[in-house]
Amino acid sequence: MMLSDLYYDAVVVGGGPAGATAADDLARAGHRVLLLDRAGRIKPCGGAIPPRLIADFDIPEHLLVARATAARMVSPAGRQVDIPIEGGFVGMVDREVFDEWLRQRAQAHGAVRRTGSFETLQPTADGMTLLAYRDGQGLHQVRTRTVIGADGARSAVARQAVPGAAKGRCVFAYHEIVRTPQPTPAGFRGSRCEVHYDGRLSPDFYGWVFPHGDTVSIGTGSADKGFSLRGAVQRLRQSAQLDGAQTLRREGAPIPMKPLPRWDDGRHVVLAGDAAGVVAPASGEGIYYAMLGGRFAASAVALCLKTGDGQALASARKAFLREHGRVFWVLGIMQRFWYASDRRRERFVSMCRDRDVQQLTFDAYMNKRLVRARPLAHVRIFFKDVAHLLGLARV
Ligand SMILES: Cc1cc2nc3c(=O)[nH]c(=O)nc-3n(C[C@H](O)[C@H](O)[C@H](O)COP(=O)(O)OP(=O)(O)OC[C@H]3O[C@@H](n4cnc5c(N)ncnc54)[C@H](O)[C@@H]3O)c2cc1C
Repeated sequence: MMLSDLYYDAVVVGGGPAGATAADDLARAGHRVLLLDRAGRIKPCGGAIPPRLIADFDIPEHLLVARATAARMVSPAGRQVDIPIEGGFVGMVDREVFDEWLRQRAQAHGAVRRTGSFETLQPTADGMTLLAYRDGQGLHQVRTRTVIGADGARSAVARQAVPGAAKGRCVFAYHEIVRTPQPTPAGFRGSRCEVHYDGRLSPDFYGWVFPHGDTVSIGTGSADKGFSLRGAVQRLRQSAQLDGAQTLRREGAPIPMKPLPRWDDGRHVVLAGDAAGVVAPASGEGIYYAMLGGRFAASAVALCLKTGDGQALASARKAFLREHGRVFWVLGIMQRFWYASDRRRERFVSMCRDRDVQQLTFDAYMNKRLVRARPLAHVRIFFKDVAHLLGLARV
């Protein structure tokens, strides 16, 4: 066992979008930070990010491998609704490159990087924490004043330190990365993402085809353990005429279903990103929320370091839910209602033909806020929504 005299203000466990952002913010603010990541695996992810993320977290243009300027919604009956994304786009990143770039940025601002797997936390008599991690050389221990658990869904840090974390539930998502065939199949466009709402592709979520330039991510997700995600992706590949394309990777990972009731232990540890259970219901969007959660966790840690009060760590969850709690709640209801049967999915896709619905949805996705300038549109959408719920509108 190796223990150095050095101590850190914060050890960030996990170098995904949440951890790398937290480490970067803390390092920039002059704190002594260790960023620990176990490395060796590319995060399975569709890689779709909104313009708000690119702006808020200063993401350079070269990390975008594609920009989708249109979305195609496909219903169970095969009806297609093409939505131009006016005045914006959905950015596509490759996580292998994107995550490493974020970690290098944190390092360039002063964070110390280590590759290794987190093992245990142990409080010390002088109010610090001993954090143990393992690498090829053996077990190491570092002393730290605070810990940020950003080690993803089913976080080991959360399970050890935060009450109730072990009860967090997950859905499972699976995708296949294929090489984009040349010439591209009829109907495929490198600048259009496809979203399939169809019980055969997912009984409670959606299937996707996201173009990434040279490659395509084709995937789906479900909380139903008996549902064959691989079989669904095979069907999706056939319908997108990508069944013959060269498969580069097949991979899956859990996605948390709900923000955890607590993100901190009131003393030294706070969670961020998937570790805190933060992925948007209905859309499955997690990268933006992970980075924002990392930022709030870093602010909470900075406050805790300044005041010496562990209760300050609870400010991360409060700040997050103040900004996005209502949207998560609405998206949760949407998912439970619209994704419950093929009849409703058919209606949902049909509703997406509406220009007001299209604009509101993409404004909300791209900018992470509801446009208050058009209150009448909200009222119109509300009545259209009700008409669809009651089955009064034509499919
Ligand atoms: C198939 C799939 C598709 C998705 N598509 C999208 C999408 O298109 N757009 C979107 O916004 N979101 C998508 N998501 C969700 C998104 O990937 C996550 O929400 C996001 O990656 C969360 O970031 P994070 O930093 O919290 O966790 P992660 O990205 O999971 O990072 C956790 C990090 O912790 C490290 N780690 C784990 N355990 C340890 C340990 N014991 N010791 C040290 N390090 C450890 C891992 O190496 C990893 O680097 C998708 C998810 C899946 C599964």
